[in-house]
Amino acid sequence: MESLRISRPFDAHVHLREGDILKTVLPYTADVFFSAVAMGNLKEPISTAEQVRVYREQILSALPSGSNFMPIMSVMLQKNMTPEILEQTFEAGAQVLKFIPAATSTNSSASNGVTIPELRNYYPVLAKAADLGMIFSGHWELARDAGNVEIPELERERLAIPWLRGIISDFSELKIMVEHVTTAEMIEVVKAAPDNVAATITAHHLMLEAKDVMDPSGRIINSLNYCKPVAKTHRDRMAVVETAVSGHPRFFFGSDSAPHPISAKRRIPPAAGIFSDPVALSIVAQVFEERGFLNRMKNFTSGFGPQFYGLPISQETIVLEERYWRVPESIDGIPVFMGGKAVKYQIVS
Ligand SMILES: [Zn+2]
Repeated sequence: MESLRISRPFDAHVHLREGDILKTVLPYTADVFFSAVAMGNLKEPISTAEQVRVYREQILSALPSGSNFMPIMSVMLQKNMTPEILEQTFEAGAQVLKFIPAATSTNSSASNGVTIPELRNYYPVLAKAADLGMIFSGHWELARDAGNVEIPELERERLAIPWLRGIISDFSELKIMVEHVTTAEMIEVVKAAPDNVAATITAHHLMLEAKDVMDPSGRIINSLNYCKPVAKTHRDRMAVVETAVSGHPRFFFGSDSAPHPISAKRRIPPAAGIFSDPVALSIVAQVFEERGFLNRMKNFTSGFGPQFYGLPISQETIVLEERYWRVPESIDGIPVFMGGKAVKYQIVS
């Protein structure tokens, strides 16, 4: 029986939510990961220093007792953002400037959000982020074309590439994250970029393809697998898998674990997001093992992320053992990714 001991991992992208959901989901992140980047797209998106402080306190006070989990705080790039406000949020503990283009994901409203083309108006903010050493974490999906026509979801990441290239060439001193890569083309962009550019890969994008989510017409057939960016073609998924196991130091784990109550996942259109942290590492282990690279998993989950973020690698460890277990369908009314299925690796300590 295979077992694997790795440094406590780092989740470079998680949605911990707030209130009761926060209390339910937090242990699944905090008991496993030594640290995680807590995204700030709350009902009221985090955009001020005060909100950063309050949310940090909320997370810390919801932690299981004795936990030394370290949340990395983020602030959202919203219309009101200025270099001055950004600096205040940094002083309040924010290390990540998070960009979710307007109206492309949960709680990124069209009214306060910034679109990808509008990023050019926020160059002073990005320059300030670079000065402060903050990480610019982007969800790179273009929602509308130049004629303001909505772009189909499967094309959005590819069509964001020219805009991202512009940001990369204009900001050589800014650490730029390409969150949750899903296309072979975007992966090539990140590989070709300089060392200040890195990407996260989720567990669910190692497993899912568009056919697991929607029919050929784009109608959603499995809302539990629906997230943004939506899973793409087989060829794209293979590129994601090959890149994850390749040992490239600028591709590392970020779960994008994004819990929603079952009612929100069942409505039409469903809420976008997959609650994966309870099963994410088991899936990653299974994928790395299938490819014959289980020995590389530790860098992907525990090494490259902290390295890019400037964090120490955790001195604590966890052990994954080859032992089938059945993933719960849901936890407190929140559906879990791969719920009801058996997965091969279990975290035993
Ligand atoms: Zn996310």
